[in-house]
Amino acid sequence: MKLSIMDNATDSLNRVVEYYAEGTTSGLKAAVKELISCIELLLKEKIRRLDLDPGNPVLLFTKLKISLDDKRTKYIITPISKTKTVTFDEAIERLEWLGEPISKPDQSMIGGLKKIRNALEHLEVNENPEEIKKVFAITLGVTIRFIEKYLKTARESVVDNAAWKTLIKKPEIYAEIEKSYKVLSQDILSAEKWLTGSATCCYCGSVLVVGSDGYYSGVKCKVCGHLQEFEMCYGCKNDFPIDELTPAEGDTYLCLICSNI
Ligand SMILES: [Zn+2]
Ligand SMILES: [Zn+2]
Repeated sequence: MKLSIMDNATDSLNRVVEYYAEGTTSGLKAAVKELISCIELLLKEKIRRLDLDPGNPVLLFTKLKISLDDKRTKYIITPISKTKTVTFDEAIERLEWLGEPISKPDQSMIGGLKKIRNALEHLEVNENPEEIKKVFAITLGVTIRFIEKYLKTARESVVDNAAWKTLIKKPEIYAEIEKSYKVLSQDILSAEKWLTGSATCCYCGSVLVVGSDGYYSGVKCKVCGHLQEFEMCYGCKNDFPIDELTPAEGDTYLCLICSNI
């Protein structure tokens, strides 16, 4: 079995969603642990992509040897051993070396969940479950932002959408994920894609939607992943969500009003 770092991170993230959905203390505990290992893998994936040779990255390993080339004009970095990859803190440090640092506020948010994870593993836990859920939701928000912005990967291409939609129905999760996408939508680089303010998701109510490509015109909600397709009513020629229309002759559709005329 061979899993890439990204496959491994994707698998972890899907587990995180499953565990949290259980709604039990044990599920919450497993979700926290899994989210931390997922973030570790995502950081490693980013390091791998920034390596001069992403297919054979050297910067992922803890023990490195630095030597000079024969002409003594440049440094050569080689892993001393390939058995141990970077720890969480080393990964953060290397991203800084590579000019793609994780922001201090994000680091401290992830740090908050790491502290809880450590307590869950080694100590008696006195933490209020509601407090753990809050820190978990904040960190999940950071994770999604990392995937979308730093790994340039859409959340919906890595997490099963049906499970994600159920997760988003939890108010503590919705609040943080919405916040993350709000930050992403203000990112000038992707501003033109967003239809913010012109449509609302009929599943979760967020305005953070983007135009969808495909056969039908429609909007896709970034927060919950719901895809709302639109089609024109053959009678009044207005666009309606496709599930509000009834099929008519040929490939046409009619809206509620036109189909009753
Ligand atoms: Zn939505
Ligand atoms: Zn009509």
